Amino acid sequence: MAVPPAGTLRFIEQPAPRPGVTVPVAPGIHWLRMPLPAGLDHINLWLLEDDGGFVLVDTGEATDATREAWLALERGPLRRLPLRLIVLTHLHPDHAGLAAWLQDRFGVPLWTSRGTYEQLQLLTREPTPDELAQRRAQLVHHGLPQVTADEMLPVLEFKVYRTAVSGLPQVERFPENDDTSRWGGRDWRWLATGGHAYGHLCLHSSGPQDILICGDQVLPSLSSNVSWNPMVDDANPLGTYLADLERLSRIDRDTLTLPSHGLPFRGVTERAQELRRHHEQRLEKLLDACRTALTAVETLPFLYRRQHEGFKLYLALGEALAHLEYLAAEGRLERLEDGGVRRYLTRA
Ligand SMILES: [Zn+2]
Repeated sequence: MAVPPAGTLRFIEQPAPRPGVTVPVAPGIHWLRMPLPAGLDHINLWLLEDDGGFVLVDTGEATDATREAWLALERGPLRRLPLRLIVLTHLHPDHAGLAAWLQDRFGVPLWTSRGTYEQLQLLTREPTPDELAQRRAQLVHHGLPQVTADEMLPVLEFKVYRTAVSGLPQVERFPENDDTSRWGGRDWRWLATGGHAYGHLCLHSSGPQDILICGDQVLPSLSSNVSWNPMVDDANPLGTYLADLERLSRIDRDTLTLPSHGLPFRGVTERAQELRRHHEQRLEKLLDACRTALTAVETLPFLYRRQHEGFKLYLALGEALAHLEYLAAEGRLERLEDGGVRRYLTRA
């Protein structure tokens, strides 16, 4: 959802690179852009010079346009400095899509969190009938009519995910929160930052120049989707997201922040505060709406002006549930179970 910055962010003046071209954003750090077929338009990737090669952060989606851009890079900057390691911030296809293909092509190791790898394993295979039935039952439990839940089955199979990724990469190492890696004379600290995606990692280097590679955790003009998702081990993803956002907001405000979508900027502290306020406003709307007991599906008109269907409905419902479950965990909403359906009621 668009949440424009309130004017406190300072964007770098460097124009965004075309696909297949790199531009430096800091000593030894290069910016790449890959096209995206729908919605977001592009994803930013980062190349970190290290030991006669590059560490690549994220890969782009498995589309012909992105593969072509990689072939152009292979003929250009990668001739001088080949890829030597791929790291993934998270599992979404614009980030992890070409991981298996690039690994195959360049024969390089890949690192990502254990949580990301578990999700990649789950989503790169077809679900079993039982798994599919469980996912469908969750939608009905949260208020979706049976007919609509049936229409959602193709979404719940995540077939689209498998067409947007090139397969399951092999993972050499699973970095954990606060681990450090030394590349190009800099120490990079891995920060586990959940809520938007299970297993999401950021990378922070505090010297010589303070730099944060933040994946989708903090975006300069969008609020990242934060969804409750029964397929992951996090019952309160908004709680996780806000706690991890708080950690990022304590990073120096002059840190050069490299987001996956939009332009590099300074002002991560202010942006984290804006995003927190955005979520607080949604929580207030839900507390107000749930003075009459509502299912998650029934809360959607209070959060969104337009009606959603298909995958967008899945995301909207997940986002509503993340907020409702946050309020329930805080004891501000009561969960009422009746006839296999859950409703939420604001506590007096
Ligand atoms: Zn994402």
